[in-house]
Amino acid sequence: AAKASAAGSARLPPLPTIGEILRMYRLKALKHLSQNFLLDTKLTNKVVKAAGAVENCSVLEVGPGPGCLTRSILNAGIRDLTLVEKDIRFIPALQQLQEASSIPVSIRQGDILKYPLQDIFPEDSVRDWMDDQLPPIHVMANLPFNISTPLIIRWLEDISTHSGLFRYGRVRMTLMFQHEVAQRMIATSGDLERSRLSVMIQNYCNVQYCFPIKGSSFIPKPEVSAGVVHLWPLKEPVMKLPFKLTEKVVRNTFTHKRKKILKAIELLFPASHKHLGAEMLQRSGIDPEVRAHLMGLDEFDALCRAYDSICDAYPIMRSYQFR
Ligand code: SAM
Repeated sequence: AAKASAAGSARLPPLPTIGEILRMYRLKALKHLSQNFLLDTKLTNKVVKAAGAVENCSVLEVGPGPGCLTRSILNAGIRDLTLVEKDIRFIPALQQLQEASSIPVSIRQGDILKYPLQDIFPEDSVRDWMDDQLPPIHVMANLPFNISTPLIIRWLEDISTHSGLFRYGRVRMTLMFQHEVAQRMIATSGDLERSRLSVMIQNYCNVQYCFPIKGSSFIPKPEVSAGVVHLWPLKEPVMKLPFKLTEKVVRNTFTHKRKKILKAIELLFPASHKHLGAEMLQRSGIDPEVRAHLMGLDEFDALCRAYDSICDAYPIMRSYQFR
């Protein structure tokens, strides 16, 4: 296909519908890969719109499947597109789209949880982390629900070290999650949905809830609806200690979510050193009666610092894992 000189003017030629693509390539959704397809271009255009100004940007789409969202992305005047899809059955349909596109499309077959992302964008897209101008890069996806939380946690770790995908700077993401996961991402202290994910994501990112998508918009229809979330890394997190330590403290604090936190905090230490739980709360100035979902980021920060200082005194505790 001829390559357009101005990315902004590129539009896809008429193509078979996604329904036709599914029939043509006999593509049945696989449950173990969380395949729920969007076939409605109006909706996928709305997702791309939620990403903001994408013109002349490089885009990574995770799990393009038969390519409905991919088409909307390609029609948005972007610079280039990289696709990472695990299911080899979609590659021929994606190649057809690649052929039709006037914008460079790179198709990578692989597992996004393992795929190296540090070199996938043009080098001139790198921006300084503290720069107000975000890199001209967007990540978009109708994420496979079974890996969305582990993927986000992994990306938060990369954000904390400015590595992997985030070597390019504070890369923006517009992602579809299961409704309840999206709710957890925006839950503030006091909300019943407040969880490890809320605290971790809000520590490292700005999070904006864009709009819900009904379960009936997907084929096959999932049991739950979805929500589109737009996020981009903060210049500096509130909890600045290393990611692994921060995540361990936050995860343990939410172990008995509705109970007083002392019980959960004690799990950071072996039974023989249970008393360090009370000491940790005392050092952090946190009320042992409080419930995890009522705490703000500053309080979690105080907990992390107290845990770190106890680990300095008892180094063996750093590697102790209750689960
Ligand atoms: N983007 C398509 C759409 O909106 O219709 C498909 C979305 S479907 C919810 C999730 C997609 O992610 C599927 O195409 C699935 O094969 C792919 N997928 C599942 N696990 C993956 C993984 N670990 N790495 C990359 N892609 C994955």
